[in-house]
Amino acid sequence: MSEKTMEFKTELSQLLHLITHSLYSHREVFLRELISNACDAIDKIRFEALTDAALLDGDNDWKITLAADKEAKTLTVSDNGIGMNEEVIVRNLGTIAHSGTKAFLAKLQESGAKDNPELIGRFGVGFYSSFMVADKVTVESRMHGAPAVRWVSEGTGSFTVSEGTRETRGTSVTLHLKEDAAEYLEEYRLRSLVKKFSDFVEHPVVMGEETLNTRKAIWLRGKSDITAEEYNEFYKHISHDFNDPAEVIHYNAEGAIEFKALLFIPEKKPFDMMMSNEPKAHLNLYVQRVFISNEFENLLPAYLRFVKGVVDAADLPLNVSREILQENPQLDKIRRNLTGRILKTLGDMKLQSYDKYLAFYRELGPMLKEGLQTDFENREKIADLLLFESSAAEAGKVRSLADYVESLKEGQNEIIYLAAEHRAVAEKSPFLEGFKADGKEVLFMLDPIDEFVLPQLGEYKGKKFKAANKGDLGDSEKLKDEKKKFEGFIGFIKEKLKGVSEVRLSTRLKESPACLVGDEYSMSPHIEAMMRRMGQPVPEMERVLELNPSHPVVAAVQSMYEADKENPKLGESVELLRDLAHVAEGSKVDDPSAFASRIAGLMARDLGA
Ligand code: ADP
Ligand code: MG
Repeated sequence: MSEKTMEFKTELSQLLHLITHSLYSHREVFLRELISNACDAIDKIRFEALTDAALLDGDNDWKITLAADKEAKTLTVSDNGIGMNEEVIVRNLGTIAHSGTKAFLAKLQESGAKDNPELIGRFGVGFYSSFMVADKVTVESRMHGAPAVRWVSEGTGSFTVSEGTRETRGTSVTLHLKEDAAEYLEEYRLRSLVKKFSDFVEHPVVMGEETLNTRKAIWLRGKSDITAEEYNEFYKHISHDFNDPAEVIHYNAEGAIEFKALLFIPEKKPFDMMMSNEPKAHLNLYVQRVFISNEFENLLPAYLRFVKGVVDAADLPLNVSREILQENPQLDKIRRNLTGRILKTLGDMKLQSYDKYLAFYRELGPMLKEGLQTDFENREKIADLLLFESSAAEAGKVRSLADYVESLKEGQNEIIYLAAEHRAVAEKSPFLEGFKADGKEVLFMLDPIDEFVLPQLGEYKGKKFKAANKGDLGDSEKLKDEKKKFEGFIGFIKEKLKGVSEVRLSTRLKESPACLVGDEYSMSPHIEAMMRRMGQPVPEMERVLELNPSHPVVAAVQSMYEADKENPKLGESVELLRDLAHVAEGSKVDDPSAFASRIAGLMARDLGA
């Protein structure tokens, strides 16, 4: 094979630039990344060899070797794992496997990457972190049944691949260290980094004759002899997060199903979730310390996909394919057990460390809500975890459903909510006026998903959910006389206005002249608008126009109608009332220019212009 030069994909060049320039103060993580890749490569061959022993064609004394050469100023990390052939090496080291890279780069640019190592750290920088300490990287690799291959790059725009010289299966990554990175040639420095980042790595990390890591799988150890530091480092190892986790869950399940679990609840949205909407949870599944996969879909429900960690099961069969294992009924039991534990931990966190919970909730709350739709069994528990802004709390503060129910007024059997785009829109909404006057609390649903999931929940602690902007509130006795009085006028409006299904007098308005009300099952207008913007087909829904009979404008138009049913101003006034209802709820009017010229006309009259 002759040497080929290839260009990195554009995103990759940008990413390399960012990594080398903005993660500088964290550059020691390169060693963690290389050891972690070596470890993954060994896990892969071990797992595949369970069903194809012929793959074990060389050195099977699993280990990761570090070798520093002070003369040549190189550091080499080698493994006897699965190795790569030419095609695989070009794919894995020449493009970015992570699908969301472009979106990630855009986000970084937005937020000023230089000042944001924390954000870039949440991206799994992986192999490319080598270029923070090396001005040239050589990878020599060999895969079962394939010739050796060599990959070389200076981390600028391109890399070369050529025939390699490696004789046994596995991979060696050689870093030609930069002038200012000579510290990574020092044994003591390497030893302490391995201790810090990779002590629990299952395979030995060897330098000369010495094994540097204790290799004790952290999840197999007793809780009492694990320090917070160790937990945090392990979390960072599996999550690529730069922050400590918000919560650690470490337990042994015994009885019907036996397994050990070490789970982490992150503080912030994990990187993989920021970049991909793929609703899948990725826990690392081990069977008796042998790594099996991090791709089992039914190990955790998708709505808990922010949880990272390890599950080590005692009684799953080892030598079967992933596909068959995936169907194993034991996984179901493990999932239920883990789910219960995680929800309970979140519940405790909410009670005991409210501020921490709140920070978590602001990032990941929307995901929990998906569980209302998918995890029927745990609905109540999930509902207990939800928080909402409310007419009874100042802006930015939240209340739980339990708070709401506890402070209910005598005789109120409903949890009233109003979905809106922003707090300010909700607060000033005409739909709030009546409830406010009656002293009833209204929860503000400011997350678009609320509108979909809450009606599905149906009720909480025996109280039904009721949307403030939907359905007929029922006429109070008071409206009886007005109804008679307005009968003819209402008939006129029905005839005049297109696009409203009904016209009636309102009990929900106090200060506003008019509003538009959907039926119980309709979408709120801002959600409808959002779906349209996303290109979703949304059927045209006609809504009910409700009028406030005690509003002076409504009363005046009604009198005008009674005085002269042919008055040319009537039609225009009625249309304006409908447009005002649109504007007040935060929607667009159907014909903005007609609306604007009507208002201008009114101003001109008012000002005598
Ligand atoms: P990640 O480990 O998150 O997939 P990396 O950037 O660390 O991302 O590595 C990219 C890919 O390169 C890996 O997924 C793997 O396929 C391949 N790779 C890296 N190092 C090795 C190695 N030592 N042996 C085999 N494959 C490797
Ligand atoms: Mg990696």
